[in-house]
Amino acid sequence: MTKKSEEKYCYVCGRPGSQVTLLGAGPFGYICTDCANQLREITDALDNSAKKSALESAAAESAKGFTLLKPKEITAFLDQYVIGQDDAKKYISVAVYNHYKRIMATTGSTAPADSIPAAGTASPAGAPAAAGNSAADDDTLLEKSNMLLVGPTGTGKTLLAKTIAKMLNVPFAIVDATVLTEAGYVGEDVETIITRLLQECDYNVELAQRGIVFIDEIDKIARKSDNPSITRDVSGEGVQQAMLKLLEGSIVNVPPQGGRKHPEQRLIPVDTSNILFICGGAFEGIERKIAQRLNTNVVGYTAKNKNAELDRDDLMKYVAPQDLRAYGLIPEIIGRLPIITSLHSLGREALLDILTKPKNALVKQYTRLFQMDGIKLVINPDVLEYIVDTAIEYKIGARGLRTICETIMLDAMYDAPSSNRKTFTVTLAYAKEKMAHFSPGTV
Ligand code: ADP
Repeated sequence: MTKKSEEKYCYVCGRPGSQVTLLGAGPFGYICTDCANQLREITDALDNSAKKSALESAAAESAKGFTLLKPKEITAFLDQYVIGQDDAKKYISVAVYNHYKRIMATTGSTAPADSIPAAGTASPAGAPAAAGNSAADDDTLLEKSNMLLVGPTGTGKTLLAKTIAKMLNVPFAIVDATVLTEAGYVGEDVETIITRLLQECDYNVELAQRGIVFIDEIDKIARKSDNPSITRDVSGEGVQQAMLKLLEGSIVNVPPQGGRKHPEQRLIPVDTSNILFICGGAFEGIERKIAQRLNTNVVGYTAKNKNAELDRDDLMKYVAPQDLRAYGLIPEIIGRLPIITSLHSLGREALLDILTKPKNALVKQYTRLFQMDGIKLVINPDVLEYIVDTAIEYKIGARGLRTICETIMLDAMYDAPSSNRKTFTVTLAYAKEKMAHFSPGTV
């Protein structure tokens, strides 16, 4: 039998080891399993509330740090990352500026006016409703300015949207419209678009409600045929119909883990009124519809209009709602994407610039990687031209530049860190040797 003086006690509840199971001695003595469990629950709860308050303060901080630049300043910011596409930049800058002014105007009535302060704009009172136009009242409703970017793949549509989100410091999600289907069919419900946004900001609904969503490949959900058929168009028109409420702004119930909604699942209500939707699509072949429209329109025009020069090489820039309708977008979707702009294919000069000029240009990235090993990287100018020419030859555009660079640089990046060299020069002969077995695959 244990002598009284030798008996061990839980330092929290004081019960002896003969009545409870004691765990190993900590700095204060022994602790029983009951108290240990209770303490764990308490610390878990504290942890969660600390996490919650950290998220809340992050949201508040982000709201405070929210900077709204003026359209020209937005374009200047975009210029640092995106080469060319001046028209698209202009449209996107104005749309984003107006969208966030609209948020200021709407939140001004329900939330403290400074909840979304704007650097560069005087105050929410500086919003367009009060911009000195006596015809506009403070309650003039500012409509949502969702956008549609039309242009070939790899021309910077996603990059533009991503850069805008970076500038605004708001959550940003990219979703692919091709995985969506009408509710009840195999595939994902449209609400999962918002799941992605919630995941981007650790399920902070407040933050997500001011975020930006880029819906890629919107052209792939075009109506499959003009004739109503017996089989439902569940991944085309059905998805477009389902997306309407999201785009126009309403409270949607979002499955936190995405996928298909099921009855027992807890859903998160999210208001999409202030989420900016930017849709992108290549709309391959839409030029034919544009040409058709322009040709028919010319008939019966005045002499002046007849002579108006059409840029036949870049018909995409004339894209209008009628063309999108002819392509298979339903009028309701087009109505909810009031800002339509196009991006054009990138020429040789633009591709060369993409290699060297943007803030995070590929050449700058490789230079930095080598610098971190104490090696000066030199890439001869003819190598850059060779990279661009190869991208053009294989028709892989800007997206392919990285694949080509990786092929050329792989061995150098493998060997250089273990060598004693201070400089590494990529010559044209070296680049061609590394590219001998290049195949673009899927880029
Ligand atoms: P998409 O138009 O298909 O959305 P992305 O924006 O995803 O094309 O472009 C793919 C990649 O190509 C980008 O990550 C970027 O590296 C490069 N890129 C494309 N267009 C541009 C551009 N205009 N300026 C700079 N980089 C570009």
